[in-house]
Amino acid sequence: MTILLQLPEGLKHKAIDIIEKYNLEDVVISASPMYGGCDIAIDEAKAIGADKIVHIGHTYFPLKRSINGIIVEYIPYNIDIEIDWPDLIDELKKNQLDRISILTTAQYHHLYYKIEQYFKNAGIENRVKKGPLCTEYGQVLGCDGTAVGDDVKAVLVIADGTFHWTAIPYNIAKKIPVYGLDPFTKKYVLVNDQIEKLHKRRIASIIKAAQAKSFGILVSTKPGQYSYRLAIKMKQELITLGKQAYILVSNNLDPNSISNFLFIEALINTACPRIVDDIEQYKKPIVNPDGYRKMIKLIKGQNVVF
Ligand code: SF4
Repeated sequence: MTILLQLPEGLKHKAIDIIEKYNLEDVVISASPMYGGCDIAIDEAKAIGADKIVHIGHTYFPLKRSINGIIVEYIPYNIDIEIDWPDLIDELKKNQLDRISILTTAQYHHLYYKIEQYFKNAGIENRVKKGPLCTEYGQVLGCDGTAVGDDVKAVLVIADGTFHWTAIPYNIAKKIPVYGLDPFTKKYVLVNDQIEKLHKRRIASIIKAAQAKSFGILVSTKPGQYSYRLAIKMKQELITLGKQAYILVSNNLDPNSISNFLFIEALINTACPRIVDDIEQYKKPIVNPDGYRKMIKLIKGQNVVF
C-alpha cells in the first residue's frame, strides 16, 4: 500500500520520527505547504497512485470535493503543556467571570478535560459546544470559533498565536471578553479589539468591492475549501448585474500571483475564509460569501445591515 504523508510546516522536520512511530511503509512525503484539515493532497495522491493519505496534525474536516476512494487518515499531533495559569485565574475571578467557554486547538485537545477540571477547581464553570467544522467539543479552528456555549461571561482560547484567538465571531466578541492564552509563555491577552479590527476591515472591503466593475472569484481545489459550483453561480449573478467576472482556480491561492491580474478590481473568496484577513497582500478588496451577499445588496441599491 502506497501512502502519501502530509505534515504541517511545523512538523515537516519530524517526518522520519512520524514514519517510524506509525510504522508507515512505502511512504511518499508531500512537500507542499499544508494548512489545515481542509487541505488534503488528493491531486498528489492520485499522481503517485497512493492508496491512502496520512494527514498529521489536524482532526477530520468535512470535505466538499470527492477523494475518489483514497483513504484519508487524520492523526492529530499531541503537544503537552503545563496547566498552571494563576494570573489568568486571578483575572477571571477579579472580573467575576465564573462561567466561561474554553476553546483549544487539536494539538492540546487531549488535555481538554484536565484543563476544564483546573478551572472547575478554581470555581470557574466551562460551557462549550462543538463547531460544525470541528471534531471535538471545545475545539477551535481558524475558520470555526463557534463552539462558544450559551450564557457564558467570557471566552478563553488556548492556542499559540493570534490566528485561533481571532476566530471567535464578532457577534460574540462585541458582547463578552475574549481572552487568548499562549500555553508556552502562559501570557494571556484580551483580543476583542483585534476581532473588531478584522470585522471593520471586512466591512470596508464589502463597501469598496461594491464599486468594482471586474471581479475575480477565487476557487481552491483543496477538498475542504472547494466551492466551484458556488463560484459559477456568483459569476452568473455578477454578469447579470453588468459586471465582468472571472473564476480563478488554484490549489494554493497565492496573493503574489493573484495580484498580477491587474484587470481585476475586487476579489470574491470561496476558499478558506481567513484569506480575507490577508487583504494587504492581495492589494484589493476581498470578500467572503457572506460579505458577497451584502455586496450584491449594495450593488442593487438595497439596505444593508452590517
Ligand atoms: S479552511 Fe482555513 S482556517 Fe479552516 S482549516 Fe482550512 S486553512 Fe484552517
